Order: sequence, then structure tokens, then C-alpha cells
Amino acid sequence: MRFAKRTESLSAEGAYQVLAKAQALEKTGREIIHLEIGQPDFKTFPNISQAGIQAINDGFTRYTPPPGMPALREIIARSAGSQRGLTFNPEQVVVSPGAKPNLFFPTLAVVEKGDQVIYPNPGFPSYEAMIRVAGGEPVPVPLLEENDFSFDLAEFDKVISEKTRMIILNSPGNPTGGIIPRADLEHIARAAIKYDCWVLSDEIYARIIYDDVKVDSIMGLPGMAERTIIMDGFSKTYAMTGWRLGYGIMPKDLADKVGLLLMHSVGSTAQFTQIAGVEALGGDQEQVEEVVAEYKRRRDLIVAGLNQLPGISCRNPRGAFYVFPNIKELGKSSQEAADWILDQAGVAVLPGSAFGKYGEGYLRLSYANSLGNIQKALERIGEILG
Ligand code: PLP
Repeated sequence: MRFAKRTESLSAEGAYQVLAKAQALEKTGREIIHLEIGQPDFKTFPNISQAGIQAINDGFTRYTPPPGMPALREIIARSAGSQRGLTFNPEQVVVSPGAKPNLFFPTLAVVEKGDQVIYPNPGFPSYEAMIRVAGGEPVPVPLLEENDFSFDLAEFDKVISEKTRMIILNSPGNPTGGIIPRADLEHIARAAIKYDCWVLSDEIYARIIYDDVKVDSIMGLPGMAERTIIMDGFSKTYAMTGWRLGYGIMPKDLADKVGLLLMHSVGSTAQFTQIAGVEALGGDQEQVEEVVAEYKRRRDLIVAGLNQLPGISCRNPRGAFYVFPNIKELGKSSQEAADWILDQAGVAVLPGSAFGKYGEGYLRLSYANSLGNIQKALERIGEILG
């Protein structure tokens, strides 16, 4: 049987491949420390789980309007607006099952065959996949370690043109934890206006930040409100990866189109999940702060520990829960290094190359794991390097 061409370029995310390999080793009796997975190790906060359970018991198990329940769209508009110092109308908010559909559907709604889309490399693997499925041409722009993993703006200036339909940003970023400084956002915004393109700003880690760093949204810059799509969600901030709840904020006309794409694909997001989402945003936010403080302790431990290992140097990321150490001095490709660390040290990490060609020479370690496990992982990696 034949498959459509658009499936040819699709491949699995590296994290799933490494997880499968690590689990196969566990079946043989090996104890593996998992630093490959990009999801919080905390449970969903109890008030949120309780709201979801209560909603199921109360019979909120039905369809909702495709772009989301009005109560959730309203509280998202308020809370996402106050977080960014911006004002959003609930009609600009589109709720989706997980944040990913709010990458995919806005891309389908604005990118046509042959359009170029600029995206960060190393970057979240779904960006390239969705650009290709939409028929667009992916144009990777390197993130530079010396810029704390913000764009190489000279390269950005070289590749942007009248053919560019969309620019994807991710700050704080996966896999690097890097934050795009305001000056860089201003540069990118000027170019977006000049070439009349959309900006899709993946802000899913915007609340997982450290050291009082400020993360600006490009949507707040002059002339950007009408061309920016913010993608955000509940998976990381509220430890809700499996609930599947995310959203996009965009100009109303585009929100209507994305709502139609949702209507004809997923229909709507689970009603009880949306009710849990209302509780997440409306309830106690101190839990988020406590979790972020714990991530910061882990970041401090893992960055200091990695920098003591021979052949490894690691920047201090200011956001998300990933480190992206440089391993070029080890003399192995990042795939070889990741395999070696898994086989010899029993620590599952991802090769930087799983995030694109400019990730070669790096590893991604997720520190969404306990301080004890991070310490043990550092010791084990230290032993094999020693
Ligand atoms: N964007 C980035 C940068 C991510 O790292 C992830 C998840 O790993 C997502 C989007 C998708 O989030 P969700 O699980 O809510 O679909």
C-alpha cells in the first residue's frame, strides 16, 4: 500500500527512542536513571486533580465548543494577559488537547506549499515535522551557545526573505533552557514586520524561570499583536502532561480558523480537563512557585556537577528544566556519547542531534528528577569519564 508523501519526513521524537532503549535495559535488571524525559516528576497538584474528578462525577463528560469552554477561555485571557502585561480578549484564545495542536493548527492555517518557515535549531522536533506536513520549507536558524542559546541573528538576517511566512520562537527553550533577550526579540519583530510574516511564539516554559530573569513575549512589541500566535499550556507549569490541555492566543480571525480545524479534527478538548484547567489558573499559585524553587535547586546541582566533569562544559540556563552541556572535547558524536552514557553509566540522556544538526556536540539532560537521582547520575557519569 502507498502512503501520502507528507508522512515520509516524519520520524519519532528522540526522547521516545531513548526511553524505549532504557526500558529494554531495565527489563534485563539494570537500574536506569531517566534524564531523557521532558515532563515534571511531580504529581498534578491535588486541587487540580480533585476538580477534574469532581467534574467527572458531576457529569461534565460532554462535548464543549471546539475552541474551548467560555469560562476557561476567559480565565486564560486574564491570567496569560496579566503574566505578560498584555490584554487579551477571550475570543483570541483557542483551547486544545495539549499545547501541540496549537503549534500544528495555526501552522496549517497560515503556511502554504512552498512557504518558508524559520525555526530554532536545536529545537523542539515537532516544529520541523509540522512545517513539512503543512507543505512548508523548514529553514533552521542556529542557536548559539555563546549567546546563551538565542538565535544567530546574522544567519537569521541572511535567511529571512519575502518567502518567509512564519518564524517560530521558543523562549525559554527546549532543549537548551535559553531565553531570547528583549533586544533579539526587537530585532526579530522588526524583520517580521518588514517581511510581513507570522510569529509563532512557544511560551510553554514561560513560568519555569530562575534568578529573577525577565521573559518578554514578542506579542507585546509594537506592531506584533496582529501577527503573533502565543502557544502555551498546562503540561509543564501544573504537571499536567497526561491531561492534555493547552492553548493558543492569536488574532481573532486566525482563532476562528484554528477553531474550525479543531472542530473537524479533535472536536473539542475533554470537558473535565478544561474544568481542571480553570482550577489550575484560578487556584493557589504558590505550588507553582515551590516547584520552580525545587527545579532551581536541581539546576544548580546539575550545572555545577557537569562543569566538574572532564571534557564537559555547561551553561547556566535561566529557564525550563533542561541543561544542554557541550561535550565536544569528549571526541564522540552526541549520539555515541548518549549511547555510551546509557550503556556504561545507566543514565538515559538525549543526544543534542535529536534536536537538529546544530545540536551536534551537545547532550540534553532533563532535571525533572530528584536531587538524589541527579547526584547519582553525576557520580555515575563521572566514573565512566574518569
Ligand atoms: N513545546 C515545547 C517546547 C515542548 O517542550 C513541549 C513538550 O515537551 C510542547 C510544546 C508540547 O506540550 P504539550 O505536551 O502540552 O502538548
